[in-house]
Amino acid sequence: MPDILVVGSLAYDDVQTPFERRRDVLGGAASYFSVAASLYSRVHVVGVVGQDFDEADLGRLRARGIDTSGIERKPGRSFRWFGRYDYDMSTAETLNTDLGVFGEWRPVVPDALRDAPFVFLANIHPAIQLDVLRQVRTPTLVAMDSMNFWLEHDRDAVTEVMSRAHVVSINEGEARQFAQTFSVIRAARTILALGPTALVVKRGEHGAMLFLRDGGMFWTPAYPLEKVQDPTGAGDAFAGGFMGHLSVTGRCDADELRRAVIHGVVAGSFAVEAFSIAGLEAATPEAIEARYRALRGIVAVGADAVAEAGPLAGR
Ligand code: AMP
Repeated sequence: MPDILVVGSLAYDDVQTPFERRRDVLGGAASYFSVAASLYSRVHVVGVVGQDFDEADLGRLRARGIDTSGIERKPGRSFRWFGRYDYDMSTAETLNTDLGVFGEWRPVVPDALRDAPFVFLANIHPAIQLDVLRQVRTPTLVAMDSMNFWLEHDRDAVTEVMSRAHVVSINEGEARQFAQTFSVIRAARTILALGPTALVVKRGEHGAMLFLRDGGMFWTPAYPLEKVQDPTGAGDAFAGGFMGHLSVTGRCDADELRRAVIHGVVAGSFAVEAFSIAGLEAATPEAIEARYRALRGIVAVGADAVAEAGPLAGR
């Protein structure tokens, strides 16, 4: 089973939706990613936490078989993020970001992890992502994510990370922001021109699009859910399902990338059903498989559509 290395934030989040507010819940891009990807492969996390980080929260990751030995503990506060969602429960409005120990931190990838074949540069300061890229040796696939915060604060470094990754995964709004265009198609062309083989544009409740440098395109809706409690982490869970699937197959051709996108939206669907990582913790390989098949059925026609019962079947 090929291993996945991830670097990204480990955080405590305050999340406010129109229906509920939760404070100090375990969050961070690396947390969501690793729990999702652990449903597929062995995951190794490189990151940093402060003195306030509860050992039991690292235990929640270890309980999934996630290797936390690359997580340093430093004097100071852990990363904190405070975000709010409106009724559409899609785009988060960041009310506060406190980098805490991530502010000064420079990652050291343990030697044993430098040969990891799959590397995910989860959302974090792009300088940290670049540091990790300098330390890994010959990964089969490097994927990266980022967000508006870093596009505003360090656009040049984000651009460099994009140009060195095989797969760029970004929100629709951020793709538009980065390329400074309304057209997602044009934004895709701009980003792919930097060098990656594939671009994933995440569209929240509308699913995700895949653009390939050779001109190929694929898109899928999101898994239809009636209950969304907290959209936080959907994008990171997406990346976990996406990378997880590729790591299991060991292949990154166009067909596997398409399947990986479906695995991504399925993983995202579990993440949003509960606050923090609880929705992902409740997911099983069987439940993933069932949602994968249901999604295939939704976009199929004719005999294929009949064969795959969707989530509303039997009502
Ligand atoms: P997502 O909803 O997939 O974009 O991921 C949300 C997670 O990213 C939250 O748990 C936050 O702790 C974390 N996060 C928010 N802002 C940042 C940032 N500027 N850098 C790194 N991680 C962040």
